[in-house]
Amino acid sequence: MTKPQIVWLRRDLRLADQPALFAAAQAGPVIPVYVLDDAAAGSHAYGGASRWWLHHSLEDLAKSLGKRNSRLILRRGDAVEELTKVAEETGAETIHAIRHYEPWWRKAQGKLAETLDLQLYDGNYLFPAGHVTTGSGDPYKIYTPFSKAILAEMPPRDELPDPEAIQLPDSWPDSDDLADWHLLPTKPDWSGGLHDFWEVGFDAAFDRLNWWQDHVADYDESRNLPSKDGSSRMSPHLHFGEITPVQIWHRFKDKRSQGWKTFEKELIWRDYAQNVICQFPAYAKESYRDGYDDGLWRNPNRGHLIQEDLEAWQRGQTGYPIVDAGMRQLWQTGWMHNRVRMICASFLVKHLLIDWTHGEQWFWDCLVDADYGSNGTNWQWVSGTGVDSNMFVRIMAPLSQSEKFDATGYIREYVPELASLDAPYIHDPEEHGCRPKNYPAKMIGHREARERALAAYRQMKGK
Ligand SMILES: Cc1cc2nc3c(=O)[nH]c(=O)nc-3n(C[C@H](O)[C@H](O)[C@H](O)COP(=O)(O)OP(=O)(O)OC[C@H]3O[C@@H](n4cnc5c(N)ncnc54)[C@H](O)[C@@H]3O)c2cc1C
Repeated sequence: MTKPQIVWLRRDLRLADQPALFAAAQAGPVIPVYVLDDAAAGSHAYGGASRWWLHHSLEDLAKSLGKRNSRLILRRGDAVEELTKVAEETGAETIHAIRHYEPWWRKAQGKLAETLDLQLYDGNYLFPAGHVTTGSGDPYKIYTPFSKAILAEMPPRDELPDPEAIQLPDSWPDSDDLADWHLLPTKPDWSGGLHDFWEVGFDAAFDRLNWWQDHVADYDESRNLPSKDGSSRMSPHLHFGEITPVQIWHRFKDKRSQGWKTFEKELIWRDYAQNVICQFPAYAKESYRDGYDDGLWRNPNRGHLIQEDLEAWQRGQTGYPIVDAGMRQLWQTGWMHNRVRMICASFLVKHLLIDWTHGEQWFWDCLVDADYGSNGTNWQWVSGTGVDSNMFVRIMAPLSQSEKFDATGYIREYVPELASLDAPYIHDPEEHGCRPKNYPAKMIGHREARERALAAYRQMKGK
């Protein structure tokens, strides 16, 4: 009998366009394994919202494997140790896995390859990180040239179908019970809003893709309007690998509308973020530029009190309606509209002068699409601490952003205290003298915050 083939699943919880599963199925009987390894990821072990998604995604995948008489083996602990044990228990010698770029996964991949035959496949991005390089052969640091180089490489690889047959092993290794992992919140169960907002799993991802086919043409105009359902909302499906950007790309390849072209560039941002963490593995934890961490932010070690301000931001109690709507949307649904993510992130690091890593960690815990590469890259981009142009001095004005992108409906939905207000009052009720008593005053005025941020920046730069 051919030796069983282990498929190590991580953020690639699907059957179709799954190169590791496809190759394993051609090589012999398949043992699909998912290992929950919190220790390896350290500060970036999955947060609450991601755990909720993971539970449902694993459940969905196990069900689909079950329909093909196969199983999903669940193990908890050090991924390398657990996979080695499964190999010993089953006589498997080869592990098939999709390549991932998070630093803890790269380390585990290296360690596993020392003792077992680890076959890695590219599967979760349009192109593997490092696929395009500058004229001197280095990886790109900046998005725009990276994006141009990727566009010149299109099309991406062909997509793969579900494996025709998944052979079963003679016997199955032990598996944990998913319920025993306690990935779902219980005391209290705060996940009601997530249930209402999301359908998890690859069928749901394809339902959304079908819907998106009819809407992508409007993306260019509607993606910045938080009151509209104007973006794909496929980020958690993409993060957990329920759908791939390659599948999306091939579905849309004949639609050359401006909306599609803009959308394609967003998919490339996702590839770009992996390209960045491949070069700078600590990117989601440490500023790339020197001087910011000790010199710019308000710092509890220098006697600054930031905790109350941080909590007001987290709870959506800043007195800036668009910021509060965004932070409450995040808390209720595990997702936030992209433009509002930029506004809320900018508010934390510039208006409140709080180190971006506090924001990155809060998003990490609350987002269902929390992604080491994308979250870190975007936080550093907004903060001006990253590899690309310095955005710190470009301070977003939340109140005018709210008017410009007509956030009225969005604010009404997520900040019920303001639901009876019309535009323009709803964007800045304090300024218009109609702030309801149960809605907080602004933590700091926009002009004052702007001047404070610029003064701190000048001081850091020694100007
Ligand atoms: C401070 C901050 C933190 C962020 N953290 C994350 C995160 O942890 N995970 C995450 O997936 N995205 C993150 N983003 C990027 C972006 O906000 C989300 O990808 C997007 O809002 C998801 O919604 P959507 O699926 O409707 O996106 P669409 O607008 O429909 O875009 C399609 C896909 O392209 C990718 N994409 C779009 N914009 C970006 C971007 N700027 N960077 C990387 N990929 C992008 C996503 O996979 C997205 O699903 C962050 C942005 C900011 C400003």
